[in-house]
Amino acid sequence: MKCPVGSQKPNCPSDKELESFLCGTLESQRAAEIEGHLEECTRCEVGCSEVGRIFCGLPQEVQQTLLQVREDEKAVAEAQTNDDY
Ligand SMILES: [Zn+2]
Repeated sequence: MKCPVGSQKPNCPSDKELESFLCGTLESQRAAEIEGHLEECTRCEVGCSEVGRIFCGLPQEVQQTLLQVREDEKAVAEAQTNDDY
């Protein structure tokens, strides 16, 4: 059975995963999976290029801020887990 173009497949990565994939912050195994998925899924390929275009269209300082926010979120999450003592 051939899926019509534009339909979401059950194994489609989320937008957030695509974004992480584009940012290079995704673990390598998952990144490889998404890379393979993009070759057979038009929807994600388009979605990926959209996310990529939006991200790449941002000024470099904004890109760095976004990536920095990602790091900060990680740091905050770690700080909260260490907050018990
Ligand atoms: Zn997909």
